[in-house]
Amino acid sequence: MKRKSVKKTRFSASSVISLLLVCMLCLLQPAAPVMAEQAGAGPAVRQNPADIYHTLASGERVFLPRDYAVPVKPTVYLTFDDGPSRLTPKVLDILKREGIQATFFVLGELAEGNPKMIQRIVREGHSIGNHSYNHEYSQLYDSFDHFWGQIQKTEDILYGIAGIRPRLIRAPGGTFGHFDPFYFYYLDQAGYQVYDWNIDSGDSKRRHVPSGEMISEVEKGPFPHEIYLLMHDGSGHDESVKALPEIIRFFKQKGYVFAPLTPSVRPIMFHSGKLLHPRFTSLPTFERNMADVTDYERRFSGGAAGAVGLAEANLEQLQSLIHQSEVAVSESAKALQLLQNPPLQVRWEAGQQQKILDLEQYDLRNDSIFVPVRQFVEGMGGTVEWNEDAGTVKVRYGYRTMTCNIDSRILTVNSVQGTEERNVLAGVYLENGSVMIQLRTAATLLGMQIDDYSLEQGKREIFISQVKPPLLALFETEWLRMRSNSFYAYMNQLVTKYSFS
Ligand SMILES: [Zn+2]
Repeated sequence: MKRKSVKKTRFSASSVISLLLVCMLCLLQPAAPVMAEQAGAGPAVRQNPADIYHTLASGERVFLPRDYAVPVKPTVYLTFDDGPSRLTPKVLDILKREGIQATFFVLGELAEGNPKMIQRIVREGHSIGNHSYNHEYSQLYDSFDHFWGQIQKTEDILYGIAGIRPRLIRAPGGTFGHFDPFYFYYLDQAGYQVYDWNIDSGDSKRRHVPSGEMISEVEKGPFPHEIYLLMHDGSGHDESVKALPEIIRFFKQKGYVFAPLTPSVRPIMFHSGKLLHPRFTSLPTFERNMADVTDYERRFSGGAAGAVGLAEANLEQLQSLIHQSEVAVSESAKALQLLQNPPLQVRWEAGQQQKILDLEQYDLRNDSIFVPVRQFVEGMGGTVEWNEDAGTVKVRYGYRTMTCNIDSRILTVNSVQGTEERNVLAGVYLENGSVMIQLRTAATLLGMQIDDYSLEQGKREIFISQVKPPLLALFETEWLRMRSNSFYAYMNQLVTKYSFS
């Protein structure tokens, strides 16, 4: 992981004035949500099955509300589909040389024949996604239970090989013209996330697209803050391997960093197109499919989930999943629950300031790390008030105040950027008299971000750092970069002193 060390700087009168100007501009900014907005329509979630059925049948998509983390730096998610093949090790070598991580959407039938490659992908910190068992459109898009069967079959294979159950799915051929709102709904309810792409390298347009053509295709853009780039490492894609170093160089020069997809990355999904394989979903079919996906969710995605799969897990395999992407970490976290339970160290960094917090009590559940609110916030220098009668916990940290109602699970956040309300769903619960909160949720709400994880037997660390205010990200000059941390600390002081919030 890379953490920058920031040079110590002094305030000169002119810099203070300039910074104050920026500060004023910050205050004038419209309320920008700290985390990205939720993926879909919230209110429909609690409708009865028949209502949901009719909503979906009318062509509307319905998603559970979820929080996603927006990366601080412009980020490229390189994705490789249709492997593993004899080309996969070459791709892995290039990624290793470049020091970057990517995502491999693999086919079950190929994973079956190449278990070592799957293990290497995981070991080297890349993410693995599910790309169905055999990629046959006619067997995937004629009915959802066929699609579901292939996802499950592939997942069981990956679990057997590497002890992981990927949350990420890429539809063969993409979702356009293939998925209807029912497909999206079932997968979402089961706890999966679907990723299409916003840049296509064009490497599967026809056979043997030359590398030069791919590179110029990629260089056309567009270049949003987050780029989901489609490439292939299936057999026959030698030219993609050839183009890869140049594509990486291109984005590095543009100031992009690379990251693997994880469930905290906002899914990207195409708009619906006319279905290539028209299908009709009846209400009984819908109810039957829902029974399958909720059963899956209960066994593998839900709170008690880990425990079921754990008994069968090959612990040795799982223990080797050290220091990886969050996807893999959450999977190995389940296995680690069975082992001794060392304290979790949270390492916090903001400019020159550093802090190490030992959390004796914490939970690994729902693929996430949960920590006691009080210990975490007070350890970071904030305050926590528990109101027994109201069932609320109030947290103050810097210029932010957040109030969480344990029953309704509604979190209200007040900050310089405005007041924001969100439903945190499974993000908070009470245990042994402690309010437990998902670490990612707590960190993001307090204006921090998680930079890296390291979970292994006997040692568990999380690295978090202070996020720059949104406007500062726009002033990416060397001058401001050097001062932004001091400025931010200064603004915090100022705001706290005059009790804004
Ligand atoms: Zn594919």
